[in-house]
Amino acid sequence: MHGLAEPPRSPAPWQRLLADAIDDPAMLLRALRLPDDLLPAARRAAALFPLRVPTPYLQRMRAGDPADPLLRQVLPLHLEYETRPGYSADPLDESAAQPVPGLLKKYHGRALLIATGACAVHCRYCFRRHFPYAEAHAGGSRLQPALAAIAADASIGEVILSGGDPLTLSDARLSELAARLAAIPHVHTLRIHSRLPVVLPQRVDDALLAWLGRTPLRKVLVLHGNHAAEIDAAVEHALGRLRLAGVTLLNQAVLLRGVNDDADTLVALSERLHRAGVLPYYLHLLDRVQGAAHFDVPEARGMALIAELRARLPGYLVPRLVREQPGAAGKTVVA
Ligand SMILES: *Cc1c(COP(=O)(O)O)cnc(C)c1O
Ligand code: SF4
Repeated sequence: MHGLAEPPRSPAPWQRLLADAIDDPAMLLRALRLPDDLLPAARRAAALFPLRVPTPYLQRMRAGDPADPLLRQVLPLHLEYETRPGYSADPLDESAAQPVPGLLKKYHGRALLIATGACAVHCRYCFRRHFPYAEAHAGGSRLQPALAAIAADASIGEVILSGGDPLTLSDARLSELAARLAAIPHVHTLRIHSRLPVVLPQRVDDALLAWLGRTPLRKVLVLHGNHAAEIDAAVEHALGRLRLAGVTLLNQAVLLRGVNDDADTLVALSERLHRAGVLPYYLHLLDRVQGAAHFDVPEARGMALIAELRARLPGYLVPRLVREQPGAAGKTVVA
């Protein structure tokens, strides 16, 4: 025993915002002044995959507009009950690619660590909505075997922290993880896949920047933003601080029906990202996960959109249109 417990400290703002994320469909509808008739379906579909929206993200939505592109990404709909041939619970067959639980090694040189199952926001189209996170992430006692597997494979130069969202973890955990990775001689790059700087820019605080600034690893952050309206002044400020800390910033988006499936919206996204110091990296075709079929955009339409972006933007602002195929040696580039 260590004597008296420490007095409770008030959590940093991002932790409070994360804990207070809206998970009640009625609150979401009320906050956006949306009609009550959306509620029964939202309640039902939230039973498939819970609603979760942090308020800083909610505040960027247009009140009274059920078609708002940010709202569409998070609002549970009855369409999620639709089953469609070709859509499954584990479309990428990820359960098969794990040498140890929580570590995915599908591509040469890179290993992906499912650092946590938690996310700050629940995206309805997420391909991991059915993923058995509770068993499959590499937190707690599973971290040691995952790190040992990385240390034992000298081909792994880059470790990708993914999830879930790795930035839901505390900076104490993350800085320790970064230190342990940096101690593995063949690991030179730490990549973080996160939606947090977009949905909760308060996450980018002094404590995060402190350990990022300290690690000797090369640092890459791949954001996940789908629409220009997601990037407000607070997000831009957070991204600027990350850039100053020496982090290379890229973005991956998912091509989503009713959210960003037209050329003007995608052009605006690339330009907004660039203004915030981020280059577009991937535009993903939807993974065929059960419950998300209503977001699907046909591949031919995706290719036509990329052609239009090429005609309107400098080459560095055109993302690669990709699809993930189980068993492939990398993302499959479609256009
Ligand atoms: C997407 C992914 C990567 C990263 O691929 P890049 O093309 O380097 O961005 C690595 N491992 C797994 C398992 C992935 O799904
Ligand atoms: S933040 Fe990423 S992992 Fe989490 S629900 Fe959204 S898309 Fe899925």
